[in-house]
Amino acid sequence: MSLTAVNSLFGLSLQQLTALALEAGEPAYRGQQMFDALYLQRAAEVDRIWTLPKHFRTWLQGHEWSVDLPRVQRKFVSVDGTERYLMELRDGESVETVWMPDGDGGESEDGTEAGEEESQYAAWRRATICISSQVGCAVNCQFCLTALLGVKRNLTAGEIAGQVAAVLNDQKVALPQQRINLVFMGMGEPFLNYENFMKAVLLLVEGLGIAASRMTVSTAGIVPRIHDFGLEAVRPKLAISLNASNEALRTQLMPLNKKWSLQELLGAARDFPLRPRERLTFEYVLLREVNDSVQHARETVELLRGIRAKVNLIALNPGPELPFGTPAEEQVLAFQAILKSAGIPAFVRRPRGRDIYAACGQLKRTVEETGVGPK
Ligand code: SAH
Repeated sequence: MSLTAVNSLFGLSLQQLTALALEAGEPAYRGQQMFDALYLQRAAEVDRIWTLPKHFRTWLQGHEWSVDLPRVQRKFVSVDGTERYLMELRDGESVETVWMPDGDGGESEDGTEAGEEESQYAAWRRATICISSQVGCAVNCQFCLTALLGVKRNLTAGEIAGQVAAVLNDQKVALPQQRINLVFMGMGEPFLNYENFMKAVLLLVEGLGIAASRMTVSTAGIVPRIHDFGLEAVRPKLAISLNASNEALRTQLMPLNKKWSLQELLGAARDFPLRPRERLTFEYVLLREVNDSVQHARETVELLRGIRAKVNLIALNPGPELPFGTPAEEQVLAFQAILKSAGIPAFVRRPRGRDIYAACGQLKRTVEETGVGPK
């Protein structure tokens, strides 16, 4: 392990922080002190790590170590309470992170979160943070704006987990963090940055103290990684972006279906080792007159037969460059009704923050191309 090659503290494991302390001639327990300060207290600068003696902080700064959390570059607040952040990374690249108070993050229907640790002081009872895993994305889904950016690079584990710390700091969320849900559904394909994504999960669990059972990762369908993910001892819940009810349609909408077909994907879903009471989530973006008919709903029922699953239906969040329309409300409800009458739990996801360009990748594009954000 080369510690001198990097100088971001945020993202280092307890083991790495301990090695750094020893390298500086400090006792090993300084590693734990840094770990707690970085992840539990979310110290944003070395000088705020009060538990460290001044001489060690000076040593760290002298060796060009910094905490290096993503920086809030722009922030847009929606009328519905959603706050969308453009986070600047150390190399000047940026990604989107979204804060959704009383969030539509996937769990409210389970009845496990609402009111649990209700505070009469907080303006929100629980919130969901949507995190990015890559700058841009290489999976060329035809209805997604992030796809238009292409992929620039993977985020590091520190940059993935750091989005959460930066948002919690900005929202002034105090410990403990039981009211926070995380969804890895922002920019990028987490399963194409699998190792950093899983490292980030561990930092979020062990460092920030957010339970893995409160996290959901969404994949476009990277089948080999679905197998790997099932073997992880600590893991978030799994969501799969289905988005089509047959092979031809899915290949048209999600070209990666040529590599990992619907059949293989559903095989992996069937084999996935679910825990007691756990369900897989299938996400289905409804595109007007493309994949939203009664026939498509019936095909979806057949596909999911025998899988312990629920379906989240999302009407397309439209974007200027997307060649698709958003279906009418009745169409969405008719699709949902067919799934429900077949015994598949199906939920309609509210679009969040439409007024602040909430479709994936839309904010980054809007800001970068025009220099201005939403009004
Ligand atoms: N790459 C991962 C996670 C990021 S996309 C994945 O594909 O799952 C997160 C979700 O947003 C996916 O279910 C995707 O299908 C959906 N999505 C993408 N573009 C959208 C749009 N314009 N409107 C609504 N949902 C969209």
